[in-house]
Amino acid sequence: MSVERFIAGIREALDGPAVVTDPSLLAKYETDQRALMTGRACAVLRPRSTAEVVAIVLLARENGVGLVPQGGNTSYCGGATPDSTATQAVVSLERMTSVRGLDRIGFTISVDAGVTLQAIHDAVGSAGLAFGLSLGSQGSCTIGGNIATNAGGIAVLRYGMARDLVLGLEVVLPDGSIFDDMRALRKNNSGYDVKQLFIGSEGSLGIITGAVLKLHPIPDTHATAWVKLAENPPLGEMIALARRESADLITSFEFLSPRSLALSHASPPVLEGGSGGALLVELTSSTARIPLDEVLTGLLEEFFTRGWAEDALIATGGRQRTEMWRRRELLPEDEKAAGGSVKHDISTPLSSADRFMREAVDAVRSFDPALELSLYGHVGDGNIHFNVLVPPGADRIAFTAMIEAELSPRLYEIALEHGGSFSAEYGIGRFKRGLLDTYADGRKLGLIKSLKTAIDPGFLMNRGVLLSE
Ligand code: FAD
Repeated sequence: MSVERFIAGIREALDGPAVVTDPSLLAKYETDQRALMTGRACAVLRPRSTAEVVAIVLLARENGVGLVPQGGNTSYCGGATPDSTATQAVVSLERMTSVRGLDRIGFTISVDAGVTLQAIHDAVGSAGLAFGLSLGSQGSCTIGGNIATNAGGIAVLRYGMARDLVLGLEVVLPDGSIFDDMRALRKNNSGYDVKQLFIGSEGSLGIITGAVLKLHPIPDTHATAWVKLAENPPLGEMIALARRESADLITSFEFLSPRSLALSHASPPVLEGGSGGALLVELTSSTARIPLDEVLTGLLEEFFTRGWAEDALIATGGRQRTEMWRRRELLPEDEKAAGGSVKHDISTPLSSADRFMREAVDAVRSFDPALELSLYGHVGDGNIHFNVLVPPGADRIAFTAMIEAELSPRLYEIALEHGGSFSAEYGIGRFKRGLLDTYADGRKLGLIKSLKTAIDPGFLMNRGVLLSE
């Protein structure tokens, strides 16, 4: 391996701003978003084109230097952070930000992988179209990162995960060749759907450089309600009823527990929760001909009749709706401001979400009754963020290590007993590698390893992420 030869070669191949080696400038790329891990990169490389990514990969191969793809560095599992050996280079896609094309008839957009999710929303919105992926981090995260993590977000119920929204991909493979499948086809049963392998691969199989995305009619008619929940709301039954009553026009169904609400800084008094917390329910449509307010009012009446809700407010204008959403979207930041939390990104089938929640809360109580929980999430798609708050004055890193060693395994086991997953949408990264080893089905893990070895036999791509070498 020769890091020096690699950097010298890269300096010849790329322009000046593409190669960052100054330690003070490297820092922001070397630490994960939650500041749980800091690695050391030999360089940060900022290509402007797919051809430059190919040049990087070929030089890295030649010199035995590992590569760590990075988008907005907003992910939660340390997958975009280099290890501590200073033998990996971060490849940041932040300068690959072109919209390659927008097809208003076919409802597709073709983009570079470094385009932020917000920029995609802006580009398609001005054409009267919508992209169905929405995350609290969308101002910073990139579509390449969204695809590499198979991101979920607040509208999965309606539009699915990132995987459901990708039609085509362009990927630079570890041997320097380009997998070019930038096609906008909804139907294409011509052999294995190879692009799916790269979706959710967390940078371990190649560097995504472009994508063709599926768009929808812009859902510019909304009805949004803030629901104060009664004690022990049956969330699974509520979402099932909501889907039926609204003809599946529900885009979001977000739960916020009372403790999560108490952390909020963005809360005007009108948005209190009830004894069971709060729900943010949103129906959307691309036509004003469907009376969404009427449909939502009918649904809320059903909630009252069944004793599931104490009160509810339907947003009367854009400002109120924004306030409701801010309250939900700022929760990760509120947790951070309150000292942080140990996150458990759990999913269960909807029919067992309530049972999971009860049993997991009991497990925490019997572990340590003083621990406080912030429970919230996209329950509409079975995803619960089951977060243990770091107690005031506790060392965050030490507390996280203790909870992850002593309590988290029990929570994951309860999720698995209910047919759930220990990683609903954040992925594996570096932090959850051990969990994949412990909880993944043996045959699945074997196949993952075979695929990794077939595509990246030299472990060039994101060594230490997803799998141990
Ligand atoms: P990064 O963090 O840079 O990278 C993530 C992984 O993808 C790494 O393994 C990296 O190596 C790989 N990668 C990045 N770019 C590429 C590429 N071009 N080619 C190959 N591999 C690549 N996530 C959700 O799923 N749902 C949410 O609701 C959600 N809400 C969030 C809210 C906040 C406030 C924050 C801070 C984060 C949230 N996240 C959420 C997590 C995060 O935003 C997502 O995981 C996002 O998809 C990461 O995108 P990124 O560009 O920041 O990727």
